[in-house]
Amino acid sequence: MSLISLSASKCVRSLARESQCNKCELICPTEAIVVANNPLPSINFSACVGCGACDAICPSEALSLDNFSASEFFFEFIDGEDNIISCAKNVPCISALSVEYIISLTVLKKEIVLDMGHCNNCAIAHKCKPQIIKNYEEASYVLEAMESETKVILKDVCYEAKEPEKLSNRREFFSSITLGNVAKAKHSFEDEVKKATDELVEHTLQKEDIALLRKKRITHRRKLLYSSIKRVQKPSIYHIIDANELSFTSAKLLDEDSCTACQMCYRVCPTGALSSDIKNSKIDFDPLLCIRCGICHDVCEPNSITLSGTYKVKEFFEPAVQNLIAFKVRRCDECNIIFSSNTDDKMCYRCKAEDEEARELWGISEDM
Ligand code: SF4
Ligand code: SF4
Repeated sequence: MSLISLSASKCVRSLARESQCNKCELICPTEAIVVANNPLPSINFSACVGCGACDAICPSEALSLDNFSASEFFFEFIDGEDNIISCAKNVPCISALSVEYIISLTVLKKEIVLDMGHCNNCAIAHKCKPQIIKNYEEASYVLEAMESETKVILKDVCYEAKEPEKLSNRREFFSSITLGNVAKAKHSFEDEVKKATDELVEHTLQKEDIALLRKKRITHRRKLLYSSIKRVQKPSIYHIIDANELSFTSAKLLDEDSCTACQMCYRVCPTGALSSDIKNSKIDFDPLLCIRCGICHDVCEPNSITLSGTYKVKEFFEPAVQNLIAFKVRRCDECNIIFSSNTDDKMCYRCKAEDEEARELWGISEDM
């Protein structure tokens, strides 16, 4: 039975062939996901065990479990009295919760317990347990940097599930059958048949995905993180932390000398964390929106955009858009189009490249 779905238009690999993202492939404990050199991940649906580790690690929420939604779990959990998260109780695997969810839940519940008591007998623990510990450490690091008194606890609770409640009588059973439910079941049965194969199923972009590619979207987990942090008291001072310890956001540096104003980084950025204005006269960066997907780095040919080693905790409480570079905007002497550049070039990027090619071909020097 299939347990996972991929939304092709949300996968950052669909935005540029330079994308190096293969986080889902690396985390999958059963090797059900293969990225290799394919444009999009391929999935062996019968090998998927539905742990949700890929769903949690995917920066753009392109993967989703058919039977578990972290955002639905989030609301149920914060409404409930309990604070234990366990694979025997309320999640398919604790690795199905991203760092952002763990921080948000901790902030709202004051204390949460991650039940590691079942990991030692679990066939997928070789991949999932280290990831849970990594998420726990990162969440604790961020909470400490916020001077929050809330905490995440790793504990061998070994929660035991009670017998699932049975439908009490035939009347209740029949009342659950409606025409709508039957149609839905038929639909999902047909989907399952399509996916019931032992082979890798390749994903391709469909016509309807193309229009969605340009849509900049903020992830659910990011919205929940920032609305949860609003309830946290601001720290006495805003600490500067090690950005290498963060997996879900970043701080950026931009080298003005090597940037060619090609516009690629902000055009491909899936969330709008990198942006410009209508004249393409600048590049701004909004850490609140950055999901650290890395595609802006992958597409930047001169490697002008890089990760900063430090991150200001202030960004969690008072997020501010930063200007990374301002360009000169002028008309090209050759083709008359308006272009942006950070040099005194009088020709646009394309005319300059053609000019250089012609000079090289005919052996004409720069000063002629
Ligand atoms: S964006 Fe998500 S689905 Fe796409 S390769 Fe990266 S982790 Fe996998
Ligand atoms: S700024 Fe770069 S790393 Fe951050 S979301 Fe945009 S493309 Fe991804």
